Amino acid sequence: MLEDKDRIFTNLYGMHDRTLAGAKQRGHWDGTADIIKKGRDWIIDQMKASGLRGRGGGGFPTGLKWSFMPKESDGRPAYLVVNADESEPGTCKDREIMRHDPHTLIEGCLIASFAMNANACYIYIRGEYIREKEALQNAIDEAYDAGLLGKNAAKSGWDFDLYLHHGAGAYICGEETALLESLEGKKGMPRMRPPFPAAAGLYGCPTTVNNVESIAVVPTILRRGADWFSSFGRPNNAGTKIFMISGHVNNPCVVEEAMSISFHDLIEKHCGGIRGGWDNLKAVIPGGSSVPCLPASTMRDAIMDYDWLREQKSGLGTAAVIVMDQSTDIIKAIWRLSKFYKHESCGQCTPCREGTGWMMRVMDRLVRGEAEVEEIDMLLDVTKQVEGHTICALGDAAAWPIQGLIRHFRDEIEDRIKKNSPPPKRSPIAAE
Ligand code: SF4
Repeated sequence: MLEDKDRIFTNLYGMHDRTLAGAKQRGHWDGTADIIKKGRDWIIDQMKASGLRGRGGGGFPTGLKWSFMPKESDGRPAYLVVNADESEPGTCKDREIMRHDPHTLIEGCLIASFAMNANACYIYIRGEYIREKEALQNAIDEAYDAGLLGKNAAKSGWDFDLYLHHGAGAYICGEETALLESLEGKKGMPRMRPPFPAAAGLYGCPTTVNNVESIAVVPTILRRGADWFSSFGRPNNAGTKIFMISGHVNNPCVVEEAMSISFHDLIEKHCGGIRGGWDNLKAVIPGGSSVPCLPASTMRDAIMDYDWLREQKSGLGTAAVIVMDQSTDIIKAIWRLSKFYKHESCGQCTPCREGTGWMMRVMDRLVRGEAEVEEIDMLLDVTKQVEGHTICALGDAAAWPIQGLIRHFRDEIEDRIKKNSPPPKRSPIAAE
């Protein structure tokens, strides 16, 4: 279990002062200028050595991503864009950072932007996060007043402006290129890649898009050292991570833990156990709604990190852990996700626009058991035709939950169909 002294987010629950004075007391904004004076290469090397992987769900190495940005400007400005459009069902960690510990993020924005040669950073916050936006904007204003942002930010010699942009509430704007389109004032529709944002992102300029948690952990990693951060978790799965556990546990919560913690420990130590005991566990979606669910038999011994969950054909995603006990109608639960993705499809590519609706309608019939058993494979086939054939990952996100359902709960789907089908008519001859 992660000890308090090793927690990066020391005000995750809002029990302490979230203002600049409180943040400074907890060790934030300490020696920021000294860190910046060590230079870009040092910062990027440290981030690479820390093993931090993107906390928004992709798990791409953060230091490596930063190194894709041009070292010298060709005349265009560079930008850091922070993705605070936290919309994946089950995910609720970035909001806690922004409303209770906003200075971790703001300091991270300054350091990360410097490392990528960016004098400006935009935080794109989701439309529904009204209070979070207010808290974060207050913190940004405080930082400007204290000289931590603006000209010669934090006396580092680097000029830096930080803008908070409030979205209008569309799931697809959490996709990095749709987010950039939206930030530019256009419809939030994902872009074809290449070019990747590091070459042509916001306003056609080199841009890196990072998740809130990925940026908020940066100052502490640089203060305490890459070795400290990488000492948590298994190799290739380093660091501390915010987990969000919802559903059928006794005490749903958001908690920072060491990466690679066992599912058992996560539930027992922080959530008061599974509702009705471990025998009552049915399935878990371990990383936010888009990753395939896993059955209780697998989850009992689960290691909560990127690699272990990928080996089980699921994923850590955002680490939003959705626990379902035996009372759950798992077919209906996955149908609800299908409905969500159908609703959120931006509609610009055919496999997603048509496929999400098609999958949802078949799922609808599976919930009621009004289908033929053969349609299960037909549905699986359609998910394969959507997966990997779309402009952005929403197509995959719609396909994977259904694949997980069929992989682990096919019996339940078949039983429902069989139970619902009328008994075969007896022939008069057989009746005699
Ligand atoms: Fe839009 Fe879906 Fe295509 Fe993504 S996959 S670009 S959401 S239609």
